[in-house]
Amino acid sequence: MAEINKVEVLIIGGSYAGLAAGLTLGRSMRRVAIIDGGEPCNRQTPHSHNFLTNDGNTPAEIANRARAEVLHYPTVSLHSGLVTEVQQFDAGFAVWTQAGDRFIAQKLLFATGIRDEMPHIPGLAECWGISVLHCPYCHGYEVRNEPIGILANGDTAFDLCRLIHHWSPNLTLFTNGPNSLTPEQQAKMNQHGIAIVEHKVTALQHNKGKIEEVVLENTAPVKLTAMFTRLPFHQSTPLPAQIGCTFTEQCFIHVDELQRTTIPGVFAAGDNTTPMRSVAVAVAAGMKAGAAINRELIEAAF
Ligand SMILES: Cc1cc2nc3c(=O)[nH]c(=O)nc-3n(C[C@H](O)[C@H](O)[C@H](O)COP(=O)(O)OP(=O)(O)OC[C@H]3O[C@@H](n4cnc5c(N)ncnc54)[C@H](O)[C@@H]3O)c2cc1C
Repeated sequence: MAEINKVEVLIIGGSYAGLAAGLTLGRSMRRVAIIDGGEPCNRQTPHSHNFLTNDGNTPAEIANRARAEVLHYPTVSLHSGLVTEVQQFDAGFAVWTQAGDRFIAQKLLFATGIRDEMPHIPGLAECWGISVLHCPYCHGYEVRNEPIGILANGDTAFDLCRLIHHWSPNLTLFTNGPNSLTPEQQAKMNQHGIAIVEHKVTALQHNKGKIEEVVLENTAPVKLTAMFTRLPFHQSTPLPAQIGCTFTEQCFIHVDELQRTTIPGVFAAGDNTTPMRSVAVAVAAGMKAGAAINRELIEAAF
């Protein structure tokens, strides 16, 4: 028999942003349900870095500890499952999970993250988060001064090469086809000794996710320790769009400084709202959303 759960706040997504909001709301004595699909974007990375007090712990260790802290507050409940439908009505929102459970809440927070789209390069998905990396602040220190590849083209390639060059001067740019750098950008690359390889990348040779060689069409492979790239992404769920939230040009949910979306009563926090992709930023945004939600509930009641 499907359950109907009535709460004040419903948080969809129970990873770093959602749990941080849950903690703030639990400490505000709010009745909160957090529903989580259990697929945080960093689940393949062996160690998470640059989150104060948790530098180098595994993503699961951080999340497990966060869950225990949040569940210490008796008004917060955590549910495993996928939310598949959201409807707005006069007094708030109703949501349904894939399992058929129904939740009713006055406020809604999307802490649902984003999904990276893997290019069709055999080996890349297996290396993602292990040796194919998105962020030097998370993983750059561990591969400093190592031979590093950049997989990108055009302005993104120039930007990434300039950034990653700070961690290692031993860089090779793989444009995976003819390069679209401007002559000025190419001159800068030459000036800093960055080799540009235009051959098609056909595979990444790796050992349990640790990249060893970039396999190229019609030429010898290149040995590497790590690779940085910026993957395209989409929102993890169509629900914010279905309920009418607006999005930025970069496809993030549009929020104001208090994490409010363009739909009254609906908030969003974490990777789904910002290109600043880190656990610390997601936690900060979740905390902010929790406080803003609590304030709206207080203002409605007082
Ligand atoms: C490979 C990789 C390595 C990283 N390494 C680091 C690092 O070392 N240090 C660092 O600070 N940051 C790192 N990051 C960034 C960091 O992981 C993210 O910024 C952070 O996870 C964002 O938290 P979030 O809560 O917004 O989203 P996520 O952690 O992605 O969580 C979103 C949650 O929402 C759930 N969800 C989505 N849709 C639904 C739905 N419809 N119903 C129910 N649940 C749903 C998902 O299952 C998931 O559990 C890394 C990212 C990646 C991709």
